[in-house]
Amino acid sequence: MFFKRASADSAVDVREPEPGAPVMALRGVDKSFPAGAGQTFVLRRIVLDIAPGEFVSIMGPSGAGKSTLLHILGLHDSAWSGEYSLMGHTVHTLPAKERSALQKRHIGFVFQSYHLLDNLTVYENIELPLSYRDVKKSERQSIVADVLDRFGIVAKKDLYPSQLSGGQQQLVGVARAIVASPAVILADEPTGNLHSGQAQEIMELFRHLNQQGTTIVQVTHSETNAAYGSRVIRLRDGFIDLS
Ligand code: ADP
Repeated sequence: MFFKRASADSAVDVREPEPGAPVMALRGVDKSFPAGAGQTFVLRRIVLDIAPGEFVSIMGPSGAGKSTLLHILGLHDSAWSGEYSLMGHTVHTLPAKERSALQKRHIGFVFQSYHLLDNLTVYENIELPLSYRDVKKSERQSIVADVLDRFGIVAKKDLYPSQLSGGQQQLVGVARAIVASPAVILADEPTGNLHSGQAQEIMELFRHLNQQGTTIVQVTHSETNAAYGSRVIRLRDGFIDLS
């Protein structure tokens, strides 16, 4: 379903990838920061293919470059070199505006600390990604109502994030990430602030979304969370650890 849908966006070419082609493909991606007279490399020569429907966990010690890699995949970071193809689009050749359109079209992001907007209700937070699209108000209402129902949070829709538990806030975070039916969910330590029961609920939700066809990439320190996925990529000092 994710690869057949016609696009409502007109500002950017959002044609779908060839069947079986990677959703995300990195070739020789480097990321560095200036340090003294030289550079400190945070990611080195990253080569990575993520196929449609995969559920990948990025693991490795603190400082290995996991979040940096996820933010490059999520088009939050454009200060890197190398090649990146997202849904068949060569990201490295695109201007910022088109990268942003691709991001809104194809990617949902889940953050460790939720990143909900405190002055918006649960309903309004979930509706936000749809407002970036050309979706009519009546259609938005029906999509948000459906997501609230599926996530069991209808009764919370008029509350503000500060009135929710951490687990409930992350449910809203995931609801917001998937409301616009992205092909890919990227999650940065999505259960890092949660108790184990709440964490399990979020991971079960990811499993369900993955079974329905959403490609998922998560950064995690948790072997329990990684066990929900189909593949682990280990980073060490900015390199993919192939040992
Ligand atoms: P991880 O998610 O694996 O813990 P990160 O991707 O957050 O690692 O960070 C990788 C490395 O990049 C760390 O060593 C971090 O200190 C470094 N780093 C991140 N941002 C900057 C920056 N603005 N300037 C210099 N180094 C940075």
